Amino acid sequence: MITMKVAIIGSGYVGLVTGTCLADIGHEVICIDNNEEKINTLKKGEIPIYEPGLKKKVNKNVKEGRISFSTKIKQGIDNSEVIFIAVGTPPRDDGSADLVYVENVAREIAEHMDTYKVIVEKSTVPVQTGEWVKKTLQKYGKTGVEFDVVSNPEFLREGSAIKDFLNPDRIVIGVSSKKAELIMKKLYSPIDSPIVVTDIKSAEIIKHASNSFLATKISFINAVAEICEKTGADVNLVAKGMGLDTRIGPRFLRAGIGYGGSCFPKDVDAFVHISDKVGYDFKLLKEVQKINKHKRSSFVKKIQDKMWILKDKKIGVWGLSFKPNTDDMREAPSLDIINALQKEGAKVKAHCPGGMENAGELLSNVDFKDCPYETVKDCEALVLVTEWDHFKNADLKKVRNHMKSPVIFDGRNVFEPNKMKELGFEYHSVGR
Ligand code: NAD
Repeated sequence: MITMKVAIIGSGYVGLVTGTCLADIGHEVICIDNNEEKINTLKKGEIPIYEPGLKKKVNKNVKEGRISFSTKIKQGIDNSEVIFIAVGTPPRDDGSADLVYVENVAREIAEHMDTYKVIVEKSTVPVQTGEWVKKTLQKYGKTGVEFDVVSNPEFLREGSAIKDFLNPDRIVIGVSSKKAELIMKKLYSPIDSPIVVTDIKSAEIIKHASNSFLATKISFINAVAEICEKTGADVNLVAKGMGLDTRIGPRFLRAGIGYGGSCFPKDVDAFVHISDKVGYDFKLLKEVQKINKHKRSSFVKKIQDKMWILKDKKIGVWGLSFKPNTDDMREAPSLDIINALQKEGAKVKAHCPGGMENAGELLSNVDFKDCPYETVKDCEALVLVTEWDHFKNADLKKVRNHMKSPVIFDGRNVFEPNKMKELGFEYHSVGR
């Protein structure tokens, strides 16, 4: 087994999973974060985020001495050959990526770096960031200390992050030297997957282009859903018929209320922004953004059209996190939908297996319930926002009996319309 010394700076969703998985394949990893509370939680054997299987893997690798946690960046840099930057790159008001955390970390690395290091951009960053990281390291670093910058974008999905990291469709490595290429190949050698080696700028674009393409697929089927709804066709059947064509594929063809989360909205925004900056008007992606926004508002309009007055009506919401199996509430459609329902005077109760704690900080006047059936009790409508299995497998007779009037607005097309009719529900979904 090859053991390399690795530091991860930024121990959030991506950093912690990257560090844990690299430790799990045999490397010696130190995960750094400037959030003291996060590091203390990790030191106590607890995990600050909800990610299936992560706690077990972290604890195993701590026990076997391959992973440790610290707030001290110097400690990580001194002891490591490969240093990952995995800090957040949140959106700014104009849609561009905020690179202030990346710059801060690059400066800190420069100040402490005494021997050759490979500095890896793991965060999602716009094309040409690698050049800025290199300039920053040169400007603030000690003379004569060599380094290489590498772009190694991450494609994991929250909810299946460990599996995605350890069994990726591909590993992308953008390099400007053979030495860095070999080090990165050695690092990933225990993982059996194709490695795509490119220049740094191409690797940066691969990440933005991939997420933008997936978002385009979602907005495409959501636009098709509009036509289906207006003509009496069923978008789920249309997607099935399209998806079996191997040139198209079935994934990301599920109609619903659109994408959210910490990646798609911000990465599409950032790609549009960088395109504008370099003089290309990426109209296709601007339309993708527009369709996605429209899905949320048209879903609320549908609820209003069917329920007429919302004031003082109790509405139950199932699912708050932006997708199942995560606690991540960033850009979650539930936020816009609940705010819009409350603006009309509705009284909202909500349940989510993962998102309630974080949602509590972002929403007000929502009655959070621990049980899906308590959530729908005496409600005049149930709004399904996130398709957790928990809801897919719910006892629908019990749901019907708990509700004041059995009306469901299914934003994820989880249930079968005919079956819902048989069960006595007034059932509304998307594009069918
Ligand atoms: P996150 O907010 O969960 O984690 C970022 C961490 O960096 C935080 O814990 C923060 O405290 C820490 N940090 C910030 N500045 C620091 C500093 N100066 N020193 C040490 N630590 C610092 O973010 P995330 O979801 O892990 O995303 C990180 C990057 O990975 C982003 O660019 C994101 O776009 C990209 N990405 C995310 C996902 C995902 O599913 N979350 C998937 C692929 C790529």
